[in-house]
Amino acid sequence: MKTDATEKLFNTDPFDYSLENQKTFLESFIENTAFHYDHHEFTHRFFDHEKFHPSLLKTEKDLAKTPGMMVHLYKEHEFVSVPKEDLVLTLTSSGTGGLKSCQFLNQQGLDNVKKLALKIHESLGMVDDYTYNYLCFTYDPAIANDLGTAFTDELLTNFTKKNEVYYAIQWNEKSGDFELNEQGVVETLKRFSESGLPTRILGFPALIFELIKKYELKLDLGPHSWLQTGGGWKGKADQEIPKLEFRKFIFETLGILPQNQRDLFGMVEHGIPYVDCAEGNMHIPNYARVFVRSPHTLELLPKGEKGLLHFLCSYNFSYPAPSLLTTDYGRLGTCSCPIGGDILILEGRAGVHKHKGCAIKALEMIKG
Ligand SMILES: [Zn+2]
Repeated sequence: MKTDATEKLFNTDPFDYSLENQKTFLESFIENTAFHYDHHEFTHRFFDHEKFHPSLLKTEKDLAKTPGMMVHLYKEHEFVSVPKEDLVLTLTSSGTGGLKSCQFLNQQGLDNVKKLALKIHESLGMVDDYTYNYLCFTYDPAIANDLGTAFTDELLTNFTKKNEVYYAIQWNEKSGDFELNEQGVVETLKRFSESGLPTRILGFPALIFELIKKYELKLDLGPHSWLQTGGGWKGKADQEIPKLEFRKFIFETLGILPQNQRDLFGMVEHGIPYVDCAEGNMHIPNYARVFVRSPHTLELLPKGEKGLLHFLCSYNFSYPAPSLLTTDYGRLGTCSCPIGGDILILEGRAGVHKHKGCAIKALEMIKG
């Protein structure tokens, strides 16, 4: 397996868009798609059918010629490009009745996904030397170690030194199910605010918003605390408030500075985290490419126009999803901050089928 360019890629700065780094991504993507073409029968036949071959990728511009495999295929089939005994982790998102999203990782894929997540958060100024108390609105990964969000939270708590980690979704012996420990969350937040250590909260924005309102929280977690959200407002979209308003609300109720509140978008099948900069925009790292396509013709749309999102990545040689066509709408834009590159603006989900994911499951746990 040739992975030289891929190893090189994850030693580069994710937001340094130099021509040399762009070329490294291209080479890494060729390595990756060539491997899947040779080792995954469906990918082979799909590329052949689309008259595509990785050797056709000569320049950055050619990347857009890569045909996207529909995301639902990965929900319906177990796609793997290596012998199953090589897999070390299966990530799934907890769909409630419906199809599960998943991703299979061998050791190299797991090492890469950890490394790229660290590099991205580092470059966005989110990794520092403080010791934190963590509040995670997820299952304890010791209990649910294959769930995408639990894995993500465990990954995200490893970027800093940690004192205490509180997992808000806990097993209830009496009901025989996982439950959000609301009272526990409120008590923990109060305790953290008086601990003298900064806090990091990881969770779903709607859930945090509702809990703060329900318990009328008014705390000051201090200038070094962070809120890292993910999972969107799924299922509560009607209550969604604009990002800047949300940031203001959190600052007023928890004392977390607006620039320390960062949202993350990720898909289990794709694995690249798109994380807010200080201004609240998701810059696309050089570890991925995002194309926006017409939902009717799949033609590439010009920057700024809304269409279906098509993601490219190259880090996982075990799971053949280097070119993923999603059912999510979005568009590309620009941010005024110094990071540069295009930003990803999410515009919701296409189609009528609502896949219930982790976020919605957790939201349903808020009583009353
Ligand atoms: Zn920015």
